[in-house]
Amino acid sequence: MANCNDTLRELQTFLDNELSEDAQHAIRAHLGGCGDCLEAFDFHAELKMVVSRKCRTDEIPPGLMAKVEQCFGQAFGDGETSQSADR
Ligand SMILES: [Zn+2]
Repeated sequence: MANCNDTLRELQTFLDNELSEDAQHAIRAHLGGCGDCLEAFDFHAELKMVVSRKCRTDEIPPGLMAKVEQCFGQAFGDGETSQSADR
């Protein structure tokens, strides 16, 4: 049921533990068989930690946000017009 797009779309919700059990199960199952998504999952899990840690002390490093935007291929984060810095 879950494919890569669905999994990536639900990733944030999954990490926030706001998905239904069914959806969580589907994502876990997909992560078990898909290295790409597992990598993305690891990245986001770590990102979440970094962000929550950084939020208390410092700003998010611009490079990190650029990486996230690349990963999703679209603007990420709300309230900000995201213009990626030139590469
Ligand atoms: Zn996948």
